[in-house]
Amino acid sequence: MEDCIFCKICGKEIPAEIVHEDEKAIAFKDIDPQAPVHLLIIPTKHYDGIMNVPAGNDIVAHIHTLAIKLALRFGIADTGFRIVTNCGSQAGQSVNHLHFHLLGGRSFKWPPG
Ligand code: 5GP
Ligand code: ZN
Repeated sequence: MEDCIFCKICGKEIPAEIVHEDEKAIAFKDIDPQAPVHLLIIPTKHYDGIMNVPAGNDIVAHIHTLAIKLALRFGIADTGFRIVTNCGSQAGQSVNHLHFHLLGGRSFKWPPG
């Protein structure tokens, strides 16, 4: 989608520290990390957010399977990690291309702020 920063990262129009690529998804380091490990995992196809994924589409399962592999690879599986998707302005979604944060390497509080 035009003017979508994450579509531009998928298309290599703007740089990012990409750590994984496959036919459905890419993962890259967040530009403003909130934890020692902070990756963003996104579908290569544009969806505005989690509400826009058609029923029956397997992209969310694909991304969660990938998140587990990345948690193992980045050494945060044993100590614990979070997978987060913000949906809508009140939840803090700032980029309207579906993305999942994979965060680890420190303790997290609950409830989230
Ligand atoms: P949201 O606030 O929508 O849940 O998360 C968007 C995330 O994208 C933020 O954590 C922000 O730091 C990250 N981000 C925004 N623009 C860029 C960018 O150009 N490159 C990278 N690597 N991360 C970005
Ligand atoms: Zn996009």
